[in-house]
Amino acid sequence: MAKIQMKTPLVEMDGDEMTRVIWKMIKDKLLLPYVDLKTEYYDLGLVKRNETNDQITIDSANATKKYGVAVKCATITPNAQRMTEYNLKEMWKSPNGTIRAILDGTVFRAPIIVKGINSLIPTWTKPITIARHAYGDVYKNSEMKVKDGSKAELIVTDKDGNETRQLIHEFKGSDGIIQGLHNINGSIASFARSCFNFALDTKQDIWFATKDTISKQYDHTFKDIFAEIFETEYKSKFADAGIEYFYTLIDDAVARVIRSEGGYIWACKNYDGDVMSDMVATAFGSLGMMTSVLVSPSGVYEYEAAHGTVTRHYYKHLKGEETSTNSVATIFAWTGALKKRGELDGTPELTEFAKKLEAATIKTIEDGVMTGDLFVLSTLPNKRKVNTEQFLDEINERLKATV
Ligand code: NAP
Ligand code: MG
Repeated sequence: MAKIQMKTPLVEMDGDEMTRVIWKMIKDKLLLPYVDLKTEYYDLGLVKRNETNDQITIDSANATKKYGVAVKCATITPNAQRMTEYNLKEMWKSPNGTIRAILDGTVFRAPIIVKGINSLIPTWTKPITIARHAYGDVYKNSEMKVKDGSKAELIVTDKDGNETRQLIHEFKGSDGIIQGLHNINGSIASFARSCFNFALDTKQDIWFATKDTISKQYDHTFKDIFAEIFETEYKSKFADAGIEYFYTLIDDAVARVIRSEGGYIWACKNYDGDVMSDMVATAFGSLGMMTSVLVSPSGVYEYEAAHGTVTRHYYKHLKGEETSTNSVATIFAWTGALKKRGELDGTPELTEFAKKLEAATIKTIEDGVMTGDLFVLSTLPNKRKVNTEQFLDEINERLKATV
């Protein structure tokens, strides 16, 4: 059988621990036998990041800008314990943070839905994709404890030195606390464009919500920027695609989300996204079934699994013990990237292959063959737990039958 050819390389970002082990298995078993895989390889494993003073991460992000599509393996974000474990020169920053800053992107997280792994919310039968604005608000705040008798004010000094003051609170009779938040219109606009582009891309409605009734300047600005960009740049494209932009208050959005069947993108301000993404992920089941894609406002895509490097399984693997690690989200990172590459290059065979691999993966689980994390959740009567490698072999059996 002739292998499927690729026109443009994918940017391949390798990673750490158990996901690095899985990464190679996926390539060897499910990709290389079928696709003449063209990648520009960047090793974002912690050893290489340390060796290159993290330059490799920056290079991989710039390559992503150049080629437009990347696939990334989970990577360690170092902490104090990793400093000694890997004998690091510095506590290198999170690669995801570095890449996101260079691409100015928004992260979209979506669950992969299979029969027999039911959502904790029975009405949720389609995926809910969460987009979190990853700049500012309480994550870049300035806060203080304030003594009784103090007066707190907001002071803004413009470029000519003029001051504008506004009272926050006069503390009379009790100590208190204050907090200063900010955001940047440019970042909100990038977020809006990434969201609208991704909605068009995936042909799903997009919801956005803030508390603009209470926060008439701050949150209202988010609402206004989204509305203006939608009206001027996306309204007719959305009409052509038959999808909608829906804005509502955050509390109304939460109520509607719970009652909904899913099947849309929920754009969230930074804090809402932090909280709601954990709620949605938990309700849909395993971390091993959650995908993630970083989309830049200019239309550059980086696909990955939402989970980390699954350290506990890796240590077992190193001791020669059997593991049953779920590779689905990492497989879908590859298929997401291959589908997008095929679409951009006009190579439908590549897109078709990626869809077949996704179907074979889902069929494997729906046939009752699954890793331990899913085994405990599945309601299938004939379910069977397999190890990390067997799971990929089972997928390959089903894939072979379709290509
Ligand atoms: P994690 O790797 O996501 O794993 C947390 C736990 O979730 C695992 O111990 C495992 O539970 C379960 N799990 C996650 N993915 C699974 C899978 N594919 N199959 C089966 N079970 C899975 O998170 P972490 O332990 O907090 O972080 C480990 C490392 O990953 C850290 O160094 C962190 O910096 C990094 N990280 C990277 C990214 C990224 O690159 N995007 C994201 C998050 C974390 P059991 O042990 O109970 O089986
Ligand atoms: Mg969170």
